[in-house]
Amino acid sequence: MIATLSFTGWLLVARDYLPDPEWVHFGFSLFLGSILAAVVLVIRARNLEGVEKLRMGDRVRQIEMESALSQTERARRGEEEARRALEGAIVQVRESEQRFRGLADATFEGVVIFRNGHVVDANTRAAELFGVSVPQLLGAPVLNLVAEGSMDDAARVLEGGGGHGEGLDLDASRYDGSLFPMAVSVVSTVHQEKNAKVMVIRDITDRRRVELVLRRALEEAEGNSRAKSTFLANMSHELRTPLNSVIGFANILMKRLGDELPVREMDYLKRIQSNGEHLLSLIDDILDLSKIDAERMEIVREPLQLDELVGEVLRTLDVQARKMGLELRSEVPGELRPLVADARRMLQILLNLAGNAVKFTPSGSVTIRVLAEEDSGRPARIEVSDTGIGIPAYRLEEIFSPFNQVDSSSARSFGGTGLGLTIARSLCELMGFDLYATSRKGEGSTFVIELDPGRGPRAHDRPSALNAGSVGEPTG
Ligand code: ADP
Repeated sequence: MIATLSFTGWLLVARDYLPDPEWVHFGFSLFLGSILAAVVLVIRARNLEGVEKLRMGDRVRQIEMESALSQTERARRGEEEARRALEGAIVQVRESEQRFRGLADATFEGVVIFRNGHVVDANTRAAELFGVSVPQLLGAPVLNLVAEGSMDDAARVLEGGGGHGEGLDLDASRYDGSLFPMAVSVVSTVHQEKNAKVMVIRDITDRRRVELVLRRALEEAEGNSRAKSTFLANMSHELRTPLNSVIGFANILMKRLGDELPVREMDYLKRIQSNGEHLLSLIDDILDLSKIDAERMEIVREPLQLDELVGEVLRTLDVQARKMGLELRSEVPGELRPLVADARRMLQILLNLAGNAVKFTPSGSVTIRVLAEEDSGRPARIEVSDTGIGIPAYRLEEIFSPFNQVDSSSARSFGGTGLGLTIARSLCELMGFDLYATSRKGEGSTFVIELDPGRGPRAHDRPSALNAGSVGEPTG
């Protein structure tokens, strides 16, 4: 194109200056030259393009090769990594297996792994327990380890599913046929990539021995306690009978020979009688206390009329109170519901409290007071108060423990054993009541039977008594 244009241009310019034939010659050679130059230019351009194309192809191929290479490299590296991970895993598995084995061997318990009822692994302790070596255990039926008598239980535990440990005491059978008690627990596990079960075995021979010794000791103690109670019951009977006749005959002699006997002999008879009675009450108290101790005190629950009970106490103590010049009185509300309690034991308690009150009151009065809930008329508490010698504050609780008397000369001057209040409080508690004392030294004392122990000052000491509720109407 350029050649044609330049040729035409040259032709127009040269036509004016050159002679005709020269002009033609010149024009033609110029034309050829231009064509040639154009051809050369085209070929060169073509060549350049081809080379460029070739070069680009090479580049592409090189890139492709490079990427292929890097891919292979990556693949190789991946493989390497995977191999290394695998090796690590193998090492870990081996380590954890070793750790497991170490742990299993170190533990005091026997460990047996079994699958389909047959042992697949065991620790040395297990082998030791059954008197064999580990290889001897492998492959053996797991039930071989259990004594004949424990088979059923064992089958239930060993075959029972679930991943939770099930514990059971079984008799184990050693390879030599001897038996030992074992505690087993079984859990599901995976062993060598397959489901299996682990049985953990503990030899409980020592525990059994201790249990046996304890059971024997307990039986012996129970036997002893029973024997003691029986002994006391028999003894009290054996003692009471002759004692009653001693007291009875002393009474007869005093009555019959009252006027004939010299004063001194009469005094002997009186001592026989009073000491006999003291001994009798002591025997009764000790028997009661031993029954309470052995938890053999039987309490009857029956509806009882407190006014009648209080009346009986007054009648019993009347002579004694009169002798001492004391006023003995009662305050019982007119409308009073029956109390559910053991009448004989309630009488015993009230006689003890009122008897003490009379005993420790040189002058003044003794009052038995029953208080009731205003709306329901239910008996709420019974108070026995006196205007006697009183009890120092620091002894108010002590007097409820056995053989405790405020004054050690008390037994001599007032008689008594120091067991009465101990028994009274225990009896109250057995009936669901509470017993405590308040006092002012020199002014008198008040003993309170709280029939609803949830209210008494000792309520927080014995929370169990809160539910004892025997107060109120009889049931049925
Ligand atoms: P005892 O058989 O000696 O009376 P108790 O257990 O009944 O035994 O009483 C223990 C002690 O508590 C008595 O010895 C006495 O010191 C004191 N006591 C009991 N009741 C009273 C009271 N009402 N007034 C003063 N002291 C009392």
